[in-house]
Amino acid sequence: MVVVGFDVKWHQLSARREHRVHREQVLPDAAGLDVAELHRLQIKIAAVMESVDVAIIGGGQAGLATSWHLTQARVDHVVLESGRVAETWRSRRWDSFCLVTPNQFIHLPGAKYDGPDPDGFLPLAQLVDYFQSWSDSFDAPVEGNSTVTKVEADGARFLLTLASGAIKARTVVVATGAYQLPYRPAGAESLPRDVVQLFAEEYSNPAALPPGAVMVVGSGQTGCQLAEELHQAGRKVFLACGRCIWVPRRMDGRDIFWWMVESGFLDRTPDKLPSPMARLLGNPQTTGHGAGYDLNYRVLHDLGVELLGRYAGAEGSTLHFADDLAASIDFGDARLLDLLSVINAGCPPKGITPPTFDMPPPFRVKTRTALDIARDGIGSVIWTSGYRPDYGWVKLPVFDDMGFPQQVDGCASVPGLYFMGVHWMRKNKSSILYGVGEDAEVVARHIVESRS
Ligand SMILES: Cc1cc2nc3c(=O)[nH]c(=O)nc-3n(C[C@H](O)[C@H](O)[C@H](O)COP(=O)(O)OP(=O)(O)OC[C@H]3O[C@@H](n4cnc5c(N)ncnc54)[C@H](O)[C@@H]3O)c2cc1C
Repeated sequence: MVVVGFDVKWHQLSARREHRVHREQVLPDAAGLDVAELHRLQIKIAAVMESVDVAIIGGGQAGLATSWHLTQARVDHVVLESGRVAETWRSRRWDSFCLVTPNQFIHLPGAKYDGPDPDGFLPLAQLVDYFQSWSDSFDAPVEGNSTVTKVEADGARFLLTLASGAIKARTVVVATGAYQLPYRPAGAESLPRDVVQLFAEEYSNPAALPPGAVMVVGSGQTGCQLAEELHQAGRKVFLACGRCIWVPRRMDGRDIFWWMVESGFLDRTPDKLPSPMARLLGNPQTTGHGAGYDLNYRVLHDLGVELLGRYAGAEGSTLHFADDLAASIDFGDARLLDLLSVINAGCPPKGITPPTFDMPPPFRVKTRTALDIARDGIGSVIWTSGYRPDYGWVKLPVFDDMGFPQQVDGCASVPGLYFMGVHWMRKNKSSILYGVGEDAEVVARHIVESRS
């Protein structure tokens, strides 16, 4: 038995760069082959094993930010991406999507926003172009249409399974998304099958839904925005509300995000969380549409969206809701007060006067605890009830009870394995456009240092 190894040009990744990998093949009986025959065999080998130094899995902002830093450090690597660069933004957002964080807080490494509209909110098409240009700018070695279906240990290396074969890697960075598996709440399975139901990431626009009223389940940033869009399109909208912070879009003329940055709110570390479950809380209710304005329970109620408590399940054509809307509203108010206290404490040391903000009085609405699908004319249901981690394909013992990776600064306990883009990985800002670059720099430094 003989192991043959040879370097081949793996892919012409761009006009300016080609990537070379080392391939190995075990030949069961190579005795007696002369050099020319062996060479011919090497070329004919179909099921080759490719090996790379660093494999980054995922070509979103987390994977690309890591790739940018490794490129600066001249570490050979490849980015294995299921679809195209920024695939999540391309195919898992609705048509009218725009950023909720102002453009000036796009702090991607090598691509800090310096465009004409720092206070604006990039619409989806421009955001995708932004990602593509960024990736092109440093010739990111992205290998598209390459879904990794399994990562397992292989001695001191890792074995990655793809539809096209297997790859060995010395180092693996898992950067497959902050929002992975859309979550359907308990009781979802009891919804009658003839009601069209979809996840927020499958929703495109109001016209694509069947006629009739729409029930939106989940009242985070996405749920509120979809409820507003559907209402504006003339639909009757029911919003089944959960627990989420709301924020005023601006205070004293400054965007709320500016206050979060300056006060250190986004630099809070995971130990400041009240519980591990808090990692699942939705992003603040607000919007970047129309140059940005407030969008929360009070605003939606004034518009005419019918607010309900938590969705509790269906019995026949009856939909049940908890009688907990007041508690959910109070929860959102309390979390806003928490944020304000961080802002009020965090600004003075930086010489910034804390903002003036008048907290509105407690908000109470009469709610129904049941709807009838036929009588209320409900034609579709959109689940916007959050996400859960989905790392089942990473066959290594590095996950906590909730399925989040156990890591410190992105490093897992298995040497050579790293994570990126995880919620609260290092800080509150770890999974957003503002903060992912800082984590990528830390992870890339670990990788570089592990080689010296
Ligand atoms: C609705 C919504 C709105 C948001 N708005 C903002 C905002 O305004 N501002 C902000 O800063 N942040 C926002 N975020 C948060 C965050 O910026 C995004 O979630 C962002 O997409 C996270 O980047 P990522 O690289 O970690 O993950 P993703 O962008 O999801 O990238 C992961 C990549 O990995 C690929 N992949 C997944 N599995 C595999 C596999 N097994 N093999 C190979 N490839 C794989 C995917 O195709 C994808 O391209 C928003 C999030 C959501 C859900």
